[in-house]
This record gives sequence, structure tokens and C-alpha cells, in this order.
Amino acid sequence: MNAATCIGCGRCYKVCAQGVMTLRGVNEEGELVEVSEDDDDDDEILRKVMVMVDADACIGCGACNRVCPKDCQTHEPVEA
Ligand code: SF4
Ligand code: SF4
Repeated sequence: MNAATCIGCGRCYKVCAQGVMTLRGVNEEGELVEVSEDDDDDDEILRKVMVMVDADACIGCGACNRVCPKDCQTHEPVEA
């Protein structure tokens, strides 16, 4: 996952059947923070990026790679 190019569009998250990824906010300090459902609490978030939270669950289907408009997905399929 390339956090520098990710625009946090969420497409990869939606297509992943394995729950490998989650959306995180980036605050002014460049730290990853939880994204709340309520946008009113997201004032300190400058942008959102997708992060891998459970890479072991990835089955390497490549769906995330196909939908990403920014070619962020750099992880290789897990060898069986
Ligand atoms: S390649 Fe992995 S992270 Fe990407 S959609 Fe498939 S299971 Fe999810
Ligand atoms: S599809 Fe690409 S740009 Fe969109 S959230 Fe996923 S990694 Fe980021």
C-alpha cells in the first residue's frame, strides 16, 4: 500500500472480501488516527489513507489492485 499516493477513495476496501484493509485518517502531525462515522469529529484529519490491518488474510485475488485509480496496491499475493 502506498500511503503517499492513496487518496482514500475506499474502492479497494469495498471490493476486498477478506477485510484486509481499513481507512485511517492522517492528522496534522502525520499520524494515523481512527476515522469516526461522524464527520463532525474528523476536523483534525487532513486526508484519509487505506492501511493493511490483516495482511495475513489477503488471498492475493488482486481485486483491490484492479479498482485502485492510483496504483497504490503494491503488496504481492501471498504464496500458498
Ligand atoms: S488482493 Fe488481498 S487485499 Fe486485495 S482485495 Fe484481494 S484479498 Fe483483499
Ligand atoms: S483504491 Fe487506491 S486510492 Fe483508493 S483507497 Fe484504495 S489504495 Fe487508496
